[in-house]
Amino acid sequence: MSFDSPKILLQHLGLKPNRNLGQHFLLHLHQARRIVAALDLTGDDTVVEIGAGLGALTVFLAPAARRVIALERDPNLARFLAEDLFRDTPEVEVVCGDVLEFDFRRAAGEAGQPLAIVGNLPYQITSPLLFTLIREISTLDRAVLMMQQEVGTRLLAPPGLKDYGILSVLVRYHFRLTRLFSLSPGNFYPPPQVESVVLRLLPEVPDPAALDEAVLHQVVKLAFGHRRKTMNNTLVAGAEAVGLTPAQMRLVLTELNLDPQRRGETLSLAEFVALSNRVAILKQGRTGR
Ligand code: SAH
Repeated sequence: MSFDSPKILLQHLGLKPNRNLGQHFLLHLHQARRIVAALDLTGDDTVVEIGAGLGALTVFLAPAARRVIALERDPNLARFLAEDLFRDTPEVEVVCGDVLEFDFRRAAGEAGQPLAIVGNLPYQITSPLLFTLIREISTLDRAVLMMQQEVGTRLLAPPGLKDYGILSVLVRYHFRLTRLFSLSPGNFYPPPQVESVVLRLLPEVPDPAALDEAVLHQVVKLAFGHRRKTMNNTLVAGAEAVGLTPAQMRLVLTELNLDPQRRGETLSLAEFVALSNRVAILKQGRTGR
């Protein structure tokens, strides 16, 4: 079964899909149900839905959760959701705004527990959203997100492949990822240019843990700054950016048995953590002096 065609519904509302907001509406009920099912809701959950659109996911979230905060940036769609579709559904609170400015802490505080996050993401905000979720990780219980296949591939890529990057390392440091399923462009109106994939993200206690997460972030950024260069030319040459001298960085690499002729993009997550921990310790010594 399909929804009332999003095309017809939008026409009825006098609207057109806004590509700048990444509007690609789900066409099939069973796909929406599948995404919501992956969230394993209990009737006690508070859900934050990112980009509720015409409510394709929201209609399945509402009966399964205690409360649904449906974020939607487009005021026309937010008005339709609040004043029409969910007018008589008190569990759904429609919030018109940008998810990147949403107060996750306040929502989790009000819920009295960490949040379940779900969304068919507007593709242009996937990366900043993932960094936001890392920052707000203490407020999250779990997330099920649909994103462009290319970003999903980056998140899951093993070290050494060209898709492996800052996002792969930092997201995997904080979350356990599971790839659930893919959806082809024909499942959306209007169809996007690319395939989509649904991932589950579960916050994890990092193992091994970074002594200083800010230093981990800095080291990873420095190592990936010039992908084709060796660590000698990125980490050692740019050591000042993380608060060490080049000689100190060379020492760190030697201590950890990391060949400075390797490229940073070949380092595993565990190697990045070990590296950043040595850097953090040396840095402390330096500022303590
Ligand atoms: N959930 C719906 C719509 C998905 S399309 C469905 O699956 O059919 C993505 C939605 O995110 C659009 O409705 C778009 O307007 C909204 N959106 C885009 N940028 C946003 C942002 N920064 N914050 C919140 N919502 C946003």
